Amino acid sequence: MEESIWLSLWTLSTYGILFFFGASLASFYTTLGERILLYCYGKKRKEFLGFLRWKVIFSKPSHCPSCGHLVTKTHLTPIAGWFLTKGKCFQCQTPLPKLYPLTELLLGIVAVFVYFVSEDIAGTIVLLFLLGHLLISMMTDVAKFSLDYENLPFLIGFGLLSNYLLFGELPTLETLWVYLGFFVFYLLIYLLFRGGTGLGDVLFSPVFAALAGNPFWILYFNSAYLLAVGFSFLLRKKGESLKGKKVPMGLYFSLGLFLTYFAKLLVHYYNWEGFSIYGTIE
Ligand SMILES: [Zn+2]
Repeated sequence: MEESIWLSLWTLSTYGILFFFGASLASFYTTLGERILLYCYGKKRKEFLGFLRWKVIFSKPSHCPSCGHLVTKTHLTPIAGWFLTKGKCFQCQTPLPKLYPLTELLLGIVAVFVYFVSEDIAGTIVLLFLLGHLLISMMTDVAKFSLDYENLPFLIGFGLLSNYLLFGELPTLETLWVYLGFFVFYLLIYLLFRGGTGLGDVLFSPVFAALAGNPFWILYFNSAYLLAVGFSFLLRKKGESLKGKKVPMGLYFSLGLFLTYFAKLLVHYYNWEGFSIYGTIE
């Protein structure tokens, strides 16, 4: 009896720590995304170059983007910090985007969910890092229609590691075929239709498809485009035509891969009958 109490306390604190870890990671990556936008694409892109730029991006203490007021440690606490400051800068009262505490909450919940399904702590942590880097792709693509190329090696690294730790997958010849199939597809669109797709899509989408693997690339591809069409339709201004409208596809590729990993987790760990793509071999 006593043993089971300790066990549930242990489980509960593991979930608590994971939630906090996921939320902190979201806080780290949204800040990183914002700084990449400011120092690599924004008005400060000429101030620091090369290695120095990354040093500033990683070492500058958190501050208010409006007045430069340094954020205290308590106010940096994920989610809670946002409520403590009432969502405003303590000094100049500039409101801070609600998207940040929401992303923190979301990644906290994702951390708990992934560990609940997989019971694999290393796999959960590595997947959270992958999602953090996807967050950066989403932010740079929404703000600047640009996928940060320096982000790609991290996506590949954390993606391959997640696949190995959570699903026991190593890249095979099949992975290469999925990659090449997507690469040729996007390259043709890029070369044949001017403005049909960006170079970022040609480089990123085949990687995402290869990380999804066979047959999950089908889910990845369809969910990315369904989300793109759905959101563009819902978010359009009244009377606005969608024809020729520029769509931040990197955002939808990232969201598609995000959803694909959830499907992979459920299929791999629950092996849903009738849903399983592996079939049953007895
Ligand atoms: Zn301020």
